[in-house]
Amino acid sequence: MTDVKELLLSRIRDVPDYPKAGVMFKDITPLLADPTAFTALTGALADLCVEHGATKIVGLEARGFILAAPVAVRAGVGFIPVRKAGKLPGATLAQSYELEYGNAEIEVHAEDLAAGDRVLVIDDVLATGGTAEASLQLIRRAGAEVAGLAVLMELGFLGGRARLEPALLGAPLEAL
Ligand code: AMP
Repeated sequence: MTDVKELLLSRIRDVPDYPKAGVMFKDITPLLADPTAFTALTGALADLCVEHGATKIVGLEARGFILAAPVAVRAGVGFIPVRKAGKLPGATLAQSYELEYGNAEIEVHAEDLAAGDRVLVIDDVLATGGTAEASLQLIRRAGAEVAGLAVLMELGFLGGRARLEPALLGAPLEAL
């Protein structure tokens, strides 16, 4: 493991049974509070942005925003929030997806993405992949291209990578 990976891993706190029994919550707040680790993370994500030729960054609510916004500034590209339904004031495109129990919906401002944009999606944790899959569909429906999906952590045992494969259409999934 590289030094950066070790540093990042050492700053993630496992919180058992949060927010409900049986879930091991990956808490990134110790990483955010450590300027060396946070700078290393945003630097690694900004490198991916350049490597994959992204012209815009989408952050997924809510922890994805915290990571994606400084990456957009570092990489010199725009930041676009993908939010839970009902939070954006302008005209939106919406995409619903299935959760373990029930449905969820995410939205993006329609005017923020267009043909010619190459979008890197950023989130903290890839779990089942449902949220990320819906975001990729949203980006394509807006006419933009998916440059890739980058997450700090992938919970491999939940099978998110396999679920996402068809939606990625060959775009890279990078888990730091
Ligand atoms: P999913 O759609 O199942 O891939 O869930 C991804 C979203 O839920 C991400 O935005 C994560 O922030 C959050 N999430 C899911 N599982 C965890 C976990 N064990 N620890 C921290 N965040 C999680």
